[in-house]
Amino acid sequence: MKELKRQRVYDLLKGKDESLVDGEVNVKGWVRTKRGNKNIAFIALNDGSIIHNIQVVVDVQTFGNDEMLKKITTGACISVNGKLVESQGSGQNVEIQAIDIELYGTADAETYPLQKKGHSLEFLREIAHLRPRTNTFGAIFRMRHALAFAIHKFYNDKGFYYLHTPIITGSDAEGAGAMFRVTTLDLHNVPKTPEGKIDHEQDFFGKETNLTVSGQLEGELGALALSNIYTFGPTFRAENSNTTRHLAEFWMIEPEMAFYDINDNQDLAEDFLKYLIRYVLENCADDLEFLQNMYDKELIERLEFVTRNNFERLSYTAAIEILEKSGEKFEFPVKWGVDLQSEHERYLVEKHFKKPVILTDYPRDIKAFYMKQNDDGKTVRAMDVLFPKIGEIIGGSQREENYDKLIGRIKEMGIPEKDIWWYLETRKFGTAPHSGFGLGFERLMLFITGMGNIRDVIPFPRTPFNAEF
Ligand code: ATP
Ligand code: MN
Repeated sequence: MKELKRQRVYDLLKGKDESLVDGEVNVKGWVRTKRGNKNIAFIALNDGSIIHNIQVVVDVQTFGNDEMLKKITTGACISVNGKLVESQGSGQNVEIQAIDIELYGTADAETYPLQKKGHSLEFLREIAHLRPRTNTFGAIFRMRHALAFAIHKFYNDKGFYYLHTPIITGSDAEGAGAMFRVTTLDLHNVPKTPEGKIDHEQDFFGKETNLTVSGQLEGELGALALSNIYTFGPTFRAENSNTTRHLAEFWMIEPEMAFYDINDNQDLAEDFLKYLIRYVLENCADDLEFLQNMYDKELIERLEFVTRNNFERLSYTAAIEILEKSGEKFEFPVKWGVDLQSEHERYLVEKHFKKPVILTDYPRDIKAFYMKQNDDGKTVRAMDVLFPKIGEIIGGSQREENYDKLIGRIKEMGIPEKDIWWYLETRKFGTAPHSGFGLGFERLMLFITGMGNIRDVIPFPRTPFNAEF
């Protein structure tokens, strides 16, 4: 077969290079469908660069090679040389008249799991190794890429520095959730101290280590030197909660800003979310339209709505009053002091305000030790951003920069100082007011794709009893 430069289906369908029309081009990809008769065959070819397929037309009589044509079935991978022509049929503007085809790989029609269309999302989760080849997951993973890129662009354009915080951590002080232990000790023969405890001095790092639940504490070290930083990496929580919004391994974006107070923090969170949604509306239109048609008729309208309206900002205390007066029957009753459940968050967002909400000044007893204490002695300068369909999408706060107050809180909560002495030193040496937040990447993906289950917005989800692929 003649050597030609491979063209992406995206570029051909978007007409990136007009001069290619009527010339010979090469495309490679996977067959979505083949139909036709003994004179003509139509192959819908997809290379994952775009949701749409390019149509390859084969004049069966002149092409010959019946044997190979028969083997080109759904799922097979082929390379096609052919003439790029303006399309005869409706739909696409160009198609390819095949001259030569190389069959890279067949896909047996009897056993290929994606032979038929219309599989359920549950079934596709069981074949996570193949589901990227479906239209749905192609769209989702292209959007995931676009969003990741937009996140870096947003912060880079604002002069934030991307700080790589460790994945293996020696502290479990963050308290954000149960942790996965990291060890090289022989589990069949665990070394013990004279008191009968596990002897971590003999472990790889000479101490107990875990997978991180958040890059925040290290992020603060960066912010108190570089002023504005962000992290973007995997985080791990061994929480055994089988919900549609929790993963054991998920990605988090955590900006941390010196000299920001809680209001600056809210402004940044709102700008950031709107920017990302706008980016996707502008850059992922084809994929969004596909997901809207397939799964969620109000998707694009909902995204546009969020970019057009200000988020509602109010205190936790004011929110509790609204919930108490709502007359709504909640599974978990509300009163001042309780942590809000997703049913409460969604009531505020979807029924009461009908737009995203930022709640601030939560009771100190339900929030982490590092949050700045308010003068009322009861609340801390926390902020949660709540979104329709999702509930909490961002959790953040202004941080306690006062050494004595921070130590006081650590003692009250029984957090071992020896684990975070390095964190405390930032409050001893050149402390500064600062703030930050964490955005769960997959929660954002849920909102932006309109999907209902967090397992469907990450390529290889990690949840209890699920780490096959
Ligand atoms: P939730 O109450 O929903 O479990 P959280 O209070 O534990 O959340 P934070 O510790 O504040 O959440 O984490 C920051 C952000 O990370 C959350 O706002 C959310 O977007 C995301 N997040 C937290 N836990 C998970 C998880 N298990 N899977 C996916 N995303 C998560
Ligand atoms: Mn949690």
